Amino acid sequence: MKEIIGTSNTYLDIDLTNKTWKVHQASTEDLKNYLGGKGLGIKIFYDRLKDRLADVDPLGPENLLIFANGVLLTTGAPCSARFEVITKSPLTGYMVASSCGGPFGEACKTAGWDGVILTGRAETPVVIRFDDKEVVFEDAGDLWGAGTHQTQDRLRMTPKDGAAVIGPAGEHQVLYANICSGHRFVGRGGIGAVMGAKNLKAIVARGKAYKCVPVNREKFDKTVKKAQKHILRSPFTKGYKAYGTNMNTRYGIASGFSPVRNFRDRFSPKTEAITGEAMAAKYKTRHSTCRYCSILCGHKGMYPDGRMRQIPEYETMGLFGSNIENYDTDKVAVWNDIMNEMGMDTISAGGTIAWAMEAGEKGLRQTELSFSNFDNIGRILEDIAYRRNEGAELADGSKRLSEKYGGAQFAIQAKGLEIAAYDPRACWGHGLSYAVHNKGGCHLGSYLVSLEVLMGYMPPLTTLGKASWVVFCEDIFAGINSLQTCLFTALSIMTEPVVPKYLPKAALNVATILSPKLSQMLMNWSVYSDFFSAITGIAMNQWQFKKAGERITKLERHMNVKMGQKPDEDTLPERFTKEAHTKYPVASAVPIDAMVKTYYRIRKYDPLTAGPSAKDLRKLGVEV
Ligand code: SF4
Repeated sequence: MKEIIGTSNTYLDIDLTNKTWKVHQASTEDLKNYLGGKGLGIKIFYDRLKDRLADVDPLGPENLLIFANGVLLTTGAPCSARFEVITKSPLTGYMVASSCGGPFGEACKTAGWDGVILTGRAETPVVIRFDDKEVVFEDAGDLWGAGTHQTQDRLRMTPKDGAAVIGPAGEHQVLYANICSGHRFVGRGGIGAVMGAKNLKAIVARGKAYKCVPVNREKFDKTVKKAQKHILRSPFTKGYKAYGTNMNTRYGIASGFSPVRNFRDRFSPKTEAITGEAMAAKYKTRHSTCRYCSILCGHKGMYPDGRMRQIPEYETMGLFGSNIENYDTDKVAVWNDIMNEMGMDTISAGGTIAWAMEAGEKGLRQTELSFSNFDNIGRILEDIAYRRNEGAELADGSKRLSEKYGGAQFAIQAKGLEIAAYDPRACWGHGLSYAVHNKGGCHLGSYLVSLEVLMGYMPPLTTLGKASWVVFCEDIFAGINSLQTCLFTALSIMTEPVVPKYLPKAALNVATILSPKLSQMLMNWSVYSDFFSAITGIAMNQWQFKKAGERITKLERHMNVKMGQKPDEDTLPERFTKEAHTKYPVASAVPIDAMVKTYYRIRKYDPLTAGPSAKDLRKLGVEV
């Protein structure tokens, strides 16, 4: 096998309209400034379309769909078999980047490519296959209409191959369709619809032509050892390993972030039935994860119908469980399978369905959906994927529906992206994170609920310090998502430094909110910058790594502003900001305006434009 020392920094550049391809060589300067993966993907998008960002129709041929690998991929670094997909979202109208641990990334990387840039639109459905030497376009007529796993089964793949495919939801341009690779999914914000609009059913990489070797093997091996040690002894790894992300339900019940009845309530005694502990016992779960993972949050289990199924993630279980007042976990697993086969985002589907149930209850819109009848949900999910019957409208998401029928106050979304199953009235910083994240209501923008509730580093119901922590975590996470290692590694690595480890919780709770800057300076995320420099040979310390994260976040925000984002979109639905009195109240309506104001001040965003100034961008090295 041939060797790549460091990373190739080359991308396949494919034009679907003309069925041609060439090589895009990214510069070392861009790799250093944007770290690869998500960051470099955003930079490539910006370089190509910066003069017409507002005009790009997300479902038009001009939109770019970029698959980007991180420098860690295939090196053996823990939890790093991930790739990112970057595009302009048809759901929000702004930039979206999402990460996946499926096999496409590894095959693409070992074919010698750090990613694929797709533009144009094929006239008829196609499959793209590529290896280290060539790109082939095949007719996909007989695959069009097939589900995501069915498609992968029929692609005649060898062990060297990895595919990224869409299902019927992508073909029908459901605005929250996703992309499937192996049994993992990428795609908040309708990335699958962009692929479907390009008439691209599947892209298959044939890898194993190259292996990637770190420039500094000794430093790399030392960093792997350190990262593994942190990961393996973390209580979060132990919890996720045992119960998957459904470990969070227990915390949700205790703190009040677990949603009930479209986020009207935050606790039902029945929620016990959907905890990770309950499902591990019921389904005798075992691991089913992204490749090369040390945390093992993905699980599968044996269901009463004799089928081995993927256990739905916490977000899916919350939104299709307690949030619609369904406590039958068998049903959620079946719906999860349907959504996976159709290729659609379970968070947006769940949020949209809950909105439709409440809108029906309030008489705003006629619907077959209700909080007391779940027999039709499986069929309605398929109707969404094929845009049939009521599903045709539900396929556009809760924001568009509420604009048409009213009910915006209970459309649980930010910038059009439905919010995951963490009620921000129990974790205000997490609420700020939903409100200001460039992608919209994404729970992983800074995942502040982890510091506020899961780790208990800071009191959840205060505004003090929260904007500073959201900025800090957004920057670090943008960096981690550009290296393309799993964000969950941060939960282990950030609990390691001496101060959070040994300072009593009460003292930590005061320090983090009264001196957030000082607390951040005492944290240590050098594992990530050490990985980057060991692999690429480009010197980088943890503060430069954070600066790169800031650059990525602010460039993305600048692009969003050019695409039309306004300051009043950095907010939460009124359900979270005005409705505090639920059945089990926590004193709690989120004071979002005050936190957003502080966030803007720290980010140096102009309150009139919602974006960074040209001067600030130039200081970061962004050409404007
Ligand atoms: S922790 Fe979970 S999401 Fe992260 S790499 Fe492992 S299986 Fe994938």
